[in-house]
Amino acid sequence: MLSQLGATSHLSPHLTFGTISTRTIYQSTKVRAEELKTQPKAEFSLKAFRDRLRWHDSFTQRLYFHPEIAYTNRYREFDQLYTPETLSGAKQELFQAWQQGMTGFPLVDASMRQLQTMGWMNFRMRAMCATFLTINCGISWHHGAKHYMNYLIDGDLAINNWQWQMQAGATNPLSDTFRIYNPSKNIAEKDPLGDFIYHWIPELRGYSLLEIEQEKYIETSNYPKMILDWSKTRKVNGKIVSDLRKQTKQRLLSQGGDEYDSAIAAKETVEKYWQHKDREYREYQQKLSLTQE
Ligand SMILES: Cc1cc2nc3c(=O)[nH]c(=O)nc-3n(C[C@H](O)[C@H](O)[C@H](O)COP(=O)(O)OP(=O)(O)OC[C@H]3O[C@@H](n4cnc5c(N)ncnc54)[C@H](O)[C@@H]3O)c2cc1C
Repeated sequence: MLSQLGATSHLSPHLTFGTISTRTIYQSTKVRAEELKTQPKAEFSLKAFRDRLRWHDSFTQRLYFHPEIAYTNRYREFDQLYTPETLSGAKQELFQAWQQGMTGFPLVDASMRQLQTMGWMNFRMRAMCATFLTINCGISWHHGAKHYMNYLIDGDLAINNWQWQMQAGATNPLSDTFRIYNPSKNIAEKDPLGDFIYHWIPELRGYSLLEIEQEKYIETSNYPKMILDWSKTRKVNGKIVSDLRKQTKQRLLSQGGDEYDSAIAAKETVEKYWQHKDREYREYQQKLSLTQE
């Protein structure tokens, strides 16, 4: 369902609980890579898989040396916006709708219901639901991270809480951009036939995706209307986060020192990673064209 079967390894619960080690998996991939070296696509996928194993360990290492980042904003500029304070009023209602899969955004709701039932979501859905909560609903990553930790079968404080800060736009301020996922566009890209949505939201069965988009179900189903204006909240709240990123960047640039050095290192690491990935992709394309000749 939503490219979940066979698309990724589903090893994360084992890595989290230590029932298999990164070293064992890494060594098996090396053996397998040798066997698959005449198959460029498989070789390319295995490289990407090995990258993720490195990320796993780098997140663990980060938490080991900086345990405070599990609960504290990486940069103090975000302390007013992102706080663990108890939610009340409209924010609490938004949070509950998000938790229960009742936001009126089908892909968000299907994913949140999957989380509650199975303790699982794939990477893209974890990230999309995180930006929906932090940017669109304007609710701190602390609340979302705690909810994920309560339900994920692979809940890992080191990965989960840092990923939440990342998705909330509160890390890597020297980079000029941060990503906000669009749940409607993601339906077209990731669930074009609506299989995942119909599976998790029975209230919507019998409606076409177009009818769902137009909220034609409102009269006859218990499924809610969209609880917020996605474009408007993206613009307004996205600007707040973007301005805080700029403030952080300016402070780091003018103050220099250790904090600046580590921000530069983070930015360069991400850039180098993508340059490396681009190179690997070009090599893969070349090999592919040779095998097809
Ligand atoms: C908001 C958010 C919260 C997350 N919370 C967790 C969590 O609590 N526990 C967790 O293990 N992963 C978490 N992830 C990362 C990722 O979504 C999962 O590791 C992945 O979906 C697990 O599926 P898999 O084992 O099939 O991964 P594969 O793609 O097969 O990857 C192999 C292994 O690499 C590691 N890995 C994969 N992606 C990442 C990543 N982006 N960052 C760090 N390590 C990665 C995992 O250990 C995974 O088992 C989170 C991602 C986001 C966006």
